[in-house]
Parts: sequence; C-alpha cells; structure tokens
Amino acid sequence: MRWIYSFGAGRADRGRNDRDLLGSKGAQLAEMTRLGLNVPPGFTITTQACRAYLFAGELPPDLEEELDAAIELLEQTTGRLFQDTESEPLLVSVRSGAAISMPGMMDTILNLGSNDATIRALGTASDNPRFAWDCYRRFVQMHGEVVYGVDHAWFEDALAECRQARSVATDSSLPCEDLESLVAEFKAKIEQVVGHSFPADQKTQLKEAVAAVFRSWGNPRAREYRRVNGIPEDLGTGVNVQAMVYGNRGPGSGSGVAFTRDPATGAPRLYGEFLEDAQGEDVVAGIRDPISLDAFAARFPGLARDLAEVRTTLEHHYRDMQDLEFTVDRGEMFVLQTRTGKRTGLAAVRIATDMVDEGLIDRDAALLRVDADSLEQILHPMVDPEAEVRELGKGLPASPGAAVGRVVFTSDEARRRAADGEKVVLVRTETSADDFPGMVAAEGILTSRGGMTSHAAVVARGMGKCCVAGASTLRIDEHAGTVVAGDTMVHEGDWLTLDGTRGRVLLGRVRTVEPRPGEEFDRLLGWADQTRRLRVRTNADTPEDAVRARQLGAEGIGLCRTEHMFFAEDRLQTVREMILAPDREARRSALDRLLPMQRGDFEGIFRAMDGLPVTIRLLDPPLHEFLPGSEEEIEEFATRTGRKTAEVRSAVECHREDNPMLGHRGVRLAITVPELAEMQVRAIIGAALAVSDEGVRVEPEIMIPVVMTERELVSQREIIVRVAEEMFEEHGRRIEFRIGTMVELPRAALTAAKLAPHADFFSFGTNDLTQTTLGLSRDDAGTFLPLYLEKGYLPADPFRSLDAEGVGTLVRLAVREGRAVREELGLGVCGEHGGDPRSIEFFHDAGLDYVSCSTFRVPVARLAAAQVALRRGPPKPRERTASPAPPELVGAAR
Ligand code: ADP
Ligand code: MG
Ligand code: MG
Repeated sequence: MRWIYSFGAGRADRGRNDRDLLGSKGAQLAEMTRLGLNVPPGFTITTQACRAYLFAGELPPDLEEELDAAIELLEQTTGRLFQDTESEPLLVSVRSGAAISMPGMMDTILNLGSNDATIRALGTASDNPRFAWDCYRRFVQMHGEVVYGVDHAWFEDALAECRQARSVATDSSLPCEDLESLVAEFKAKIEQVVGHSFPADQKTQLKEAVAAVFRSWGNPRAREYRRVNGIPEDLGTGVNVQAMVYGNRGPGSGSGVAFTRDPATGAPRLYGEFLEDAQGEDVVAGIRDPISLDAFAARFPGLARDLAEVRTTLEHHYRDMQDLEFTVDRGEMFVLQTRTGKRTGLAAVRIATDMVDEGLIDRDAALLRVDADSLEQILHPMVDPEAEVRELGKGLPASPGAAVGRVVFTSDEARRRAADGEKVVLVRTETSADDFPGMVAAEGILTSRGGMTSHAAVVARGMGKCCVAGASTLRIDEHAGTVVAGDTMVHEGDWLTLDGTRGRVLLGRVRTVEPRPGEEFDRLLGWADQTRRLRVRTNADTPEDAVRARQLGAEGIGLCRTEHMFFAEDRLQTVREMILAPDREARRSALDRLLPMQRGDFEGIFRAMDGLPVTIRLLDPPLHEFLPGSEEEIEEFATRTGRKTAEVRSAVECHREDNPMLGHRGVRLAITVPELAEMQVRAIIGAALAVSDEGVRVEPEIMIPVVMTERELVSQREIIVRVAEEMFEEHGRRIEFRIGTMVELPRAALTAAKLAPHADFFSFGTNDLTQTTLGLSRDDAGTFLPLYLEKGYLPADPFRSLDAEGVGTLVRLAVREGRAVREELGLGVCGEHGGDPRSIEFFHDAGLDYVSCSTFRVPVARLAAAQVALRRGPPKPRERTASPAPPELVGAAR
C-alpha cells in the first residue's frame, strides 16, 4: 500500500476516485498543479493512512520511510533543505482535508521546520529577521495548539499583553525582539504542559504534526459537523504537506481570498479581499482590515493580471465559480486552494446563464447547476444589505424574506391592528393553531422557542411569510407585552424588523429592497419549462396571489382554499352566524349573505387565471378557528345577533372538539350541512358563468376534501351536478367543469379504485395524508421531531420532504388503482410537498400530472421538475463540455 502521492509527479488510473483517497483539498492541489498553476509543491498523505493511524493508534511503520522520501523529493523540487542553516530553509505547511470539505473543522500547521537555527538562516537569507521570527512565533503557537493541545486563548492572551505593553493594535506592529521573547515564552509554556522540550528536529515536528492532523478528524467540533451534515465517520482526512510561501514578508507580500464571480450577485468579476503582510487566515480573521480586490488591482496591477489569469484557468477547467486562496510572496502569485464557491440563489442563476453564453456549459448543465430551493430567496423582499442595523437577537432563518411592523403579542391584536391597516409583527414564545388568524394578518412571525419545523416555521413558510423562530436569547413576555434582550426592551407597538433569510431580529424599521430577479431568471426558467414533464400549479386563495403566481409561471391553481376567504373581519361574523345558527332559517340567511362575497372572490380568481384550470376546494374549516373564543366575544356575538349569551355559549361548546384535525371537517361538514356545499357550488358555477360571459376562458374544478368513503363522494357529486345543472338551466348556457376528490386520508388512497369512478381527478393532500399516515400531528411534533431527525428515526422532516417509503406507497397505490379504473384520471398534488425538490422527484417518478405549491415556490417547482426530467430522461447526446472531467490521481512521490 502506498501512503503518499506528490502533487505533481505521474498519473494514476482514471476510474479511481482520488477525492476519497486524497481528500478534496489534496485532489484539488494535484489538479491545479497539473493545470500549470503556480501551486507551491508538496504531497498528500492519503485518508487511508489516517484510517490506519486511527485504527492502530500509531503511524504505519512504512509511512515514515515514504515520508522521508517525499521530503527529499520536495527538497529537490524547491531547492531548499529542511535542515538548512546557511540559506533559506524549507518550511512546510501541514494541512488537513477530507473527501468532503469540512471548512475550518480540522487543523493546519504553518511554517513547520522552524527552529532556532533555521529561523536565523531564514532571517539572514531574506534580510528580514522580523519576518523569520513571525513565522517561528506562528509555528510554535500552532504546533502547541494542534499537537499538544495548549489552549488557544493562552497564546492569544500572551500576544495581547505584548501588544498592550507596546501600545500597538495588531501583531504585525510588534517588533522582532518581542517575537523572539514570545517564542521563548511559548516554548516554555509548552514544555511545562507536556513535560519535555519543544522539538527542534524537523522530522519529529512533521511526524507529530501529521499524527495530530489525523487525530483532529475526531475532535468534537469535527464530529458535530459530520453529525449535522450527515458525513460518514469513517472517511478520515488526508494530510497535505506543502512548501511554504510567505505573505508575511512585509509590503509587497500578503494573502487573499477570492471568488471567481461575485457570490452575492453572480456578476462575472473577481470578488474578494487581500491583506498585505499577512499569512494564512489573517485575511479573514478580522484583526486588520483587508482591501477589496478592486483596491488590490489599483495597487498591484501586475498581480491583478496574474489573478485574472488564474480565474480564467480555473473557470475553464472546472466550469463553475470557484472560491480560492492565494498568497503573494514578494510579488509572486501563488494559488493555495480552490473549491466550488457557495453563492446566493440570485448569483447561482446569473452564473449559470452567463456560463451558457460564455460557452462554458450547456443549458442542461445550467439547469442542473442551480439549487432549486435557492430560487425562493430571490423572490422575497430582503433587508437592504446596505442598511445600518441594530440587532436585537438571532434565531433560525425559518422562512426567508423581511418583515417590518409593529410588535403585537396576540393573534387578536394582530388581526385588530391589521384590520386598521397597520403593519404588525406577531411575537410569541411559540405559536399554535389558535394563532393562525394572527399569523395571516401579520407581516412576519417571531418566536423564541421551536425549530425549523415548529408550527410558526411551517405555517409561515406555507404562506411565504417571513419568520424567525427559536430566537432563544430573547425573553418574550406576552402578558407584560415586552421583549427583552440584554438591556434593551421592546414594547407592544414598537417597530421591529425581521430578517428571515438570515434569522436576525432588528430594532426599528429597517429598509427593505424588492427583489428583482432579472431576465436571466426568466431565461433559466424558460429552459426549465421546455425540459420538464410535470406541470406546475399554485396554491392561491386570492386574485392577487393568483396574478402573482401566474407571473411566476404557474399553469393553473391546484388548490384554492375557501376558508381563508372567510377570515376577513366583515365575513367572520357571518360565518359565525352560519355555524352557530339555531335553525335552518338563520343558517340560510347567513349563507345567502356569504354567497355574493364568495362569488366575487371566485370571479376575481377566474379572471386572473384566464385559460388555466382552477381547482377550488369546498370548505374544510378548522371550526375552532372561526368560533368566538373569549367570553367577551361570545357576549358581543350574542348582543349583535340578539340571542341569549348562554345559548350562544352552549352552541359554541357543542362545536368544541378534542381533536379538530380528526373531527367535524371537510366533506363531513358538507354532509351535515348540505346547504353550505350548495352555496359554494352556486358561487363557483355562478362566477364561472359570469366571467365566461365576459369572454374569460374558465376551467373550474371542484374538489371535495377529507373524503373517506365512496358514499361521501357520490353524495357530493350529486349535489354539485344538481346545482350546476339548475344554474345552467337558469343561465341558458353550460360550461365544462370537473369534479374531483382530495386524497388525504389513507382510507381514500387504499380505496382509490372505488373513488375513481366518481372523480375526474385526484389531488393528493399530502399535508394531511402525512399527518394521518404517520399518526403525527404537525402542530404537536415540535417537541420530539427534531430528536427523531437528529437520531435518524426519520430520514427527513416528513412535512417538508414526502415520506416516500410510507406516504409515497399510498400515493403510488392510489395512482395505480385509480388509473386502472379510469385511464384519463387527472393526478396532482397540492400539499406543501408540491414545492419541495426532493418530493417533486418522487411525484415525477410516480407519474403525476402536476404539482401545486405556494406562490413563491412556483419557480422552485419549475426548476426541480426540469432537473428530475433531465436526470431520468432518455440519455440524449450531450455536449462534452457539460461536466468537468474528474480530477485525476497523481502518481507516486518517488
Ligand atoms: P482550511 O482547511 O481551514 O482552509 P488550510 O489548509 O487551507 O485550512 O490552511 C489554512 C491557511 O493557511 C489558509 O489561509 C491557507 O491559504 C494557508 N496556507 C496553507 N498552506 C500554505 C502554504 N504552503 N503557504 C502559505 N500559506 C499556506
Ligand atoms: Mg483553506
Ligand atoms: Mg387537508
């Protein structure tokens, strides 16, 4: 077994995955070397060696021999010697790097090889003793931390003391003699801790460092990072030993980081920072202010040209935006690292389309390149990145965008103020179903408890509303009406801004910016539309949502929920009267008043969706959310309707349910109160007839919720057909419409063959289907679901990504059985999963016709549907340029 591969020499078999063997940093260093970039020479010790070390507790015996040979080769290549005490010696970095990049999780040691003699030689040869001692100081500190576990803070304190004594702000202002005494002090401390002297011998230093970097694979923060990111424990890290180049030689040297394109906007220019007279991570450490690459270009035009060339080389090779580290050593540019750069959704789209125009990638590659989920960010208003802000606290970025409003602490207050035209932010320790109306009314939601799957987070995302959840440093007192953070107190009515994209809670009214997706957004999605098989509809309850969704490319409405229409203040009273009606007469009167309002809603929606299908779901009311709750409300209702308070109270009591989710809802309500369904059908068909008279092309689809038995469906179908026929008769003209059922109970899925003869379409209501299949209430899962996800009892949050194994089996069954009896049965999905890329893959595979999702997720769904079509599609000939060739393994050190 060979343990070591040099960056430059030889080549190995293609098919082998060098990332796994060399770690991604090692593989990229080798690849950049092969590309002819100016990479300081070095070699990689394999991840296999790491595994062997971790298994045996010692370095493999033959590794030492190989290490000697590799160092000898490095000495030849660089013309420098490890133990040189006459001229500039060889110093190396010892860098970690696993197959999957774990930024900053493991350790790196710089300037290894330093000892009193070599440092003196370096000082003389470079005519810069201060620089030499700076290297030495850094080495002893890093070696002390990484190898011997001496506390980082101890070293930093010693440095701080030194700076204070000299009255200077930064280490780079410390004179040489201070660095010398620091080295002595550091060594003494280490000796005291470990009980032997600090090693001067380079080979000893190197072996210690390699072993320590191997061990850093198992440090707690690396373990934690792997756990959170699902990275296997047994990969191990590679170790890269590389000749040092020095950015800390003073003016004219420095270290920098760069993205080959702007990671925020995608603009095709280098973006990054440079810090003069700096080594390694100084540039990102925030101690001194680095300069922008524009300023760098102005100061060092020649180096800027070199960097531009590096950019071109890397981008032509990798055909993607790169994130790189570079160092300038006395005017010479070196590249030390490259990897695929992280970017915002906006930048991802811009980069993908630009690269098509530049001929770097083809359209399919561009489509696959962009993370579909990231498109959503682009559409929400955002906190102006330029704005000055005062942060009150931080929470989870539960639902992206920005919200600016006055603080309210109750759902009722939110509704009251919103009805008066005020903008409010609903602040709760956590939310429950009872807060829903207030959440609808609020601009954004802030909670101090709960995670990414808490009620607040899930509901807010569903509504495309900004939410910061679990801001645990805030003390929210709903009774006192205050939020306290440190010594700041916010009262009801104060302005607050939420940054749901980054999870920040900001004081006051912070400026927001409207997103402008730009023409590249439409271009990319245009390509997606030509590629996908699944159609994409939207869940929209109002004409405004419908218009918006259509602009974003929705091809119809897959779910129009009528109950939201009833929450408006003026209607809520009438709805209450309808529900609590003492007799048929009173009920009919309430329904008669609701009819024109409903009809008006539907007309607006049909007009907005001219030429496209609109699925309207009959009422599926969360009854408890409609009913008067407090004693006051009950009294007020009684007074207004001229009824006895006690009678109203007992009517409300009558409707109280222990388990509303499994209670009197959906079609069950239509069975007990057929007039309600009749009124809704009248409103739908009436609206459709009216707007089609205006020339609007309508395609109404009436959908029956929570169907459990065939008989339910049959009875509803009868009502709908009867009412519609009556209206056609009256109107003297008929229109086409369809009747379908939601499949949101396991029983409906299991009996699909029975339901299909009475349904023109099935729409999978995967939210409720998930709740009822898993026996898991979304509102109550917050206390244990996070643990389930963490420990792997569930592979993913089933309310975000469809549980393909369980719920998915029911979906497939219903598709198969349904289509078997009715070939032309329409099939769609209208749960939140319709906007989730992973679930969309499943729906594509299951053969559905469309997915329907919230407005802002329509572009996400369009792209995700195209991506799955590309992945599954028949292998058509692609341009060879589409994907970068895998980096190749580089040969032996000898
Ligand atoms: P990380 O994985 O945390 O980024 P690196 O291995 O990249 O750690 O190294 C830490 C820092 O040291 C980086 O800024 C890197 O550029 C710098 N560095 C690594 N090797 C050398 C070298 N041979 N010469 C100069 N700087 C180096
Ligand atoms: Mg790095
Ligand atoms: Mg439902």
